[in-house]
Amino acid sequence: MLAERADGPVHGPYQTTSLSDTCKMKSKTKPNGKKPPAEEKKQYLEAEFTKVRVVDFDLKELVMLPREIDLNEWLASNTTTFFNLINLQYSTISEFCTGDTCQAMTACNTIYYWYDERGKKTKCTAPQYVDFVMSLVQKLVTDDDIFPTKYGKEFPNAFESLVKKICRYLFHVLAHLFWAHFKETVALDLQGHLNTLYAHFIVFIREFNLVDPKETCIMDDLSEILCAPAPPAPAAPSSPTSAPSPSSHNHVTER
Ligand SMILES: [Zn+2]
Repeated sequence: MLAERADGPVHGPYQTTSLSDTCKMKSKTKPNGKKPPAEEKKQYLEAEFTKVRVVDFDLKELVMLPREIDLNEWLASNTTTFFNLINLQYSTISEFCTGDTCQAMTACNTIYYWYDERGKKTKCTAPQYVDFVMSLVQKLVTDDDIFPTKYGKEFPNAFESLVKKICRYLFHVLAHLFWAHFKETVALDLQGHLNTLYAHFIVFIREFNLVDPKETCIMDDLSEILCAPAPPAPAAPSSPTSAPSPSSHNHVTER
């Protein structure tokens, strides 16, 4: 069934030109006149589910670069944390994400293809794709030349572009979780975690322009709901203790 989607707007991480077309095609009809499969049913957009969160505070404030913290440190720390959390969230449903159930890495009308180190496009199942993503990201975030942990060691010039690459891949995994595994997530009563993780991630990548909006637009309907601005708060930085203290331990001074 999934293989039939190959006639749809197919693209991979490096084929961004077709992405905008995907997003313009919010109508039900594809150019070839076929209806996209299961377009109607987005359980994850139902209010019953979107209202479920595990936190209820201003995510924007949480992701903003705190004073006195180096931008690259902040990006590194958050990116590593998101990698761990998204990996964990995926692991909760990984037994349902198999080569049979998910023959391609799908999210909405999109199929993601993996591109190997030489740029060769590879067709793979969703679990293979996720495995490629997680292995690559694991390799990057534990490479001391890229994510330095020693005091005084510089970040490489390519750091920001690598963070962007990681975030783009992590977005694919999140999108697939909603698109293909929301039911199972609900069955495990983990939708609040998924919603919150997603909203936090989206607010983070928007704050630092880490993923092209053309890439994320396939999930804009959900993002608009989950990332709706919090009620206006008095913008008085009166309380220094309110500075974000996420799980981001200081990445440099340890080890
Ligand atoms: Zn899957």
